[in-house]
Amino acid sequence: PKATLRFKDLVPVLYQEGRYQGDPVTLGVGGFGRVELMTTLNHGKYYAVKRVSKKHIVAKRQEEHMLFEKKILKAIQCDFIVLHAAFKDTRYIYMVMEFCGGGEIWTKLKEGRFDEQIAVFCTACVVEAYAYLHKKSIMYRDLKPENLMLDVRGYVKLVDFGFARELVRGEKTYSFVGTPEYMAPEIIKNQGHDFAVDFWSLGILIYELLVGPPFSSSEPQKIYAKILDGVLKYPPYLSEAAKSIISKLCPRPGQRLGNTKNGIKDVRHHWFSNMNWHKLRMAQLDAPTVRLIRKGPCYINFDRFPQDQTKTEEEFSGWDRDF
Ligand code: ATP
Ligand code: MG
Repeated sequence: PKATLRFKDLVPVLYQEGRYQGDPVTLGVGGFGRVELMTTLNHGKYYAVKRVSKKHIVAKRQEEHMLFEKKILKAIQCDFIVLHAAFKDTRYIYMVMEFCGGGEIWTKLKEGRFDEQIAVFCTACVVEAYAYLHKKSIMYRDLKPENLMLDVRGYVKLVDFGFARELVRGEKTYSFVGTPEYMAPEIIKNQGHDFAVDFWSLGILIYELLVGPPFSSSEPQKIYAKILDGVLKYPPYLSEAAKSIISKLCPRPGQRLGNTKNGIKDVRHHWFSNMNWHKLRMAQLDAPTVRLIRKGPCYINFDRFPQDQTKTEEEFSGWDRDF
């Protein structure tokens, strides 16, 4: 529960190396800072703690993003989203998340494309998270396998709310955001976009899970050109149902499944014919994804990262007053 967790109760989890305790466990690093595995001494629950240098945030003009990420964190409480609490000190801001011990979907995909049963389950978890966010008028805008984590039971959770944004129904926004491979045509064309972009990216995700990235290139401009061409090639091994949902999620915004008058219900009734949505929400389904998860020490599903050698400077400009 949010109220009981205090920052000073968090201690780093260390790699177990023979009889000796090793370095603190790092789960991920990026330009942003790093995500470390922590626990509490009293009740031993694990947390993934994202730490971002305040100096870095100011230098990269990410103040708005961070404040919004925090605002969302306070506003949402959903089992398919892992945010938990936020803290700050003079050097860093910290976002405390539920630890997803199963690792990234992205890592699992490197070992081969998913069979349809697994893809259906992963996508259904995303649909649940979307239903929750959209109901709260929040677009996610950064769907991709790198931002999907597996918890130890194999349930998929959304991380990284850096691109999420609140939007009034019926309005559009004109910002250019997202990851090129997953951007909807209306973002690329700067025509104004809304919740429909999340359904486009859902279609791309399904394609990537089952086949591989549909629009890829080392150059973003070429990716955009392919997206605007809009030709999705379906390999013969794709089921009719999979082809159908992908093609319905990836046409023009007004005709996109999920973005017409029935909303997300239409998505639920497609492709997921055997899904028990209620049990999924209650976490009462056996996740087929468990076979992707390695057993062993709690960090076994993560790559190993070098230790952080630098200590960032303090930052006092005050942008984080409300963080
Ligand atoms: P960048 O902008 O450099 O991509 P980011 O802002 O996207 O970084 P995140 O995606 O939030 O950062 O986290 C980076 C990595 O840390 C993830 O890809 C994942 O491997 C790990 N990670 C993040 N959250 C969790 C979590 N709740 N449980 C376990 N691992 C996590
Ligand atoms: Mg990320």
